[in-house]
Amino acid sequence: AAKRAGGNQHRFYAAELDVPQLGNAVLDAELRDALEREEFLLHYQPQVSMRTGEMVGVEALIRWRKQDGTMVPPYGFLPRAEENGLIVPISDWVLREACRQSMLWRREGLPPLRVGINLSPVQFRSQTLPAVVARAVSESGIEAGLLDLELTESIMMQDADAVAGQLHQLRELGVQISIDDFGTGFSSLSYVKRFPVDRLKIDQSFIRDIKTDPSDCAIVRAIIHLGQTLNLQVIAEGVETKEQFEHLRSEGCDEAQGYYFGKPMPPEEISQLLREKGLKLAAGM
Ligand code: C2E
Ligand code: MG
Ligand code: MG
Ligand code: MG
Repeated sequence: AAKRAGGNQHRFYAAELDVPQLGNAVLDAELRDALEREEFLLHYQPQVSMRTGEMVGVEALIRWRKQDGTMVPPYGFLPRAEENGLIVPISDWVLREACRQSMLWRREGLPPLRVGINLSPVQFRSQTLPAVVARAVSESGIEAGLLDLELTESIMMQDADAVAGQLHQLRELGVQISIDDFGTGFSSLSYVKRFPVDRLKIDQSFIRDIKTDPSDCAIVRAIIHLGQTLNLQVIAEGVETKEQFEHLRSEGCDEAQGYYFGKPMPPEEISQLLREKGLKLAAGM
């Protein structure tokens, strides 16, 4: 980049002056404050059964609302939190908060919804994750079977035996395990064999052009077939249109998640949606 002229050169000098490090120091301090001031929140996105058209679960997605009101999406702070270690207390909070919310919904009389939670590779390093999850489950009173822990390739690329051992312990607690962004990793297929999992989440990059791109269409068909053969649930991410939804349903996909059914929303909006529309978010088969 330094060889090129203009804007790139400018960026080069900024790096020389350690501007990114300064930026990190500020961000580190802000993140520590954010935890104490409880500036993080969870939005929840509906997951719908293709068979019944009903909401069967939600995925919890973290947001950071700064004091000035700006909303920071996950990619704006999670990568740094993974570097500075704050991801551990942040993730503990996510887990407890999602369990707490699940119990609140139950107390409002809503039907039991599965709750998807994204995990970070850092959470697997200390071997304490099964105990942390067990505690969140028992303290909240949530049914363990409603928790769905989402893993990405960055987790499974770590020490495979250490990760697999913890996943087996988590499964013994009764929680479910999903592979997130399935199909994008270098070794997605081998993960299915090496790790105990319940569900594949087809990455949204394969869904976007499913109606026009024959390779995407073939890849999605293959993943659904793999799921059926291995007795794993398959859910499609990033479903935005009726056409994508119908296509996936005709291919035998079990569930879908995406803007077509609802964007990630505050928990009160999930309650409101269920009160107004009931569970049925799409036409069933
Ligand atoms: P992910 O787990 O794959 O989550 C799906 C992302 O796709 C979310 O972005 C969601 O808002 C977005 N999405 C959902 N439906 C659609 C759609 O129809 N079209 C499009 N274009 N996008 C859609 P978000 O909320 O920005 O989260 C990004 C990533 O950040 C997540 O990807 C996940 O890897 C990570 N993340 C989010 N919350 C947490 C958390 O609490 N802990 C950890 N460790 N990671 C998290
Ligand atoms: Mg996810
Ligand atoms: Mg994903
Ligand atoms: Mg993703």
